[in-house]
Amino acid sequence: MDITAIYPGSFDPATLGHLDIIGRASKLFERVVVSISESSNTKRFAFSEEQRLAMLGKIIKPFPNVSVATFGGLLTAFARSRGSAVLVRGLRAISDFEYEFQMASMNRYLAKEIETVFMMTSPKYHYLSSSIVKEIARLQGDITGLVPPELVEDVQAQFQL
Ligand code: ADP
Repeated sequence: MDITAIYPGSFDPATLGHLDIIGRASKLFERVVVSISESSNTKRFAFSEEQRLAMLGKIIKPFPNVSVATFGGLLTAFARSRGSAVLVRGLRAISDFEYEFQMASMNRYLAKEIETVFMMTSPKYHYLSSSIVKEIARLQGDITGLVPPELVEDVQAQFQL
């Protein structure tokens, strides 16, 4: 089967947990489009779309079948426009489950030909989230080992006092 998978998210900023899912998804699907949700009234981001795009662009370099895009509006509409039938989401703790279950169910209602595939986090990243990275960076803590090495400076620069 020739499957293009969409891996959607905020990636505000991308972490090693995201990179782990990207690498694993790139082995399962012919193509993976890491899809950055555009800024909206309901969600405020620390990094602009351009910054998030540039950061993801740096870390997908080792994966020839992975690309990056931004999208606004309905994810299912975006997936259809890309000819994609699979959405990839990462799952960490039980706390992720309720939200992910609701989103996957709603996306199925909107587009029943599109499957959501969940990938369990690697154990070493189960505590890792963009929010915690931002919190540490804001407090001038060391984020080495939480985000890909190429992004450490970009993230720190955003929170420089
Ligand atoms: P969103 O705002 O859409 O949840 P995120 O950028 O926070 O976007 O996350 C995108 C996806 O990556 C989600 O499916 C999330 O569960 C997953 N993810 C985030 N952090 C990790 C991690 N440490 N391990 C595995 N998956 C993760």
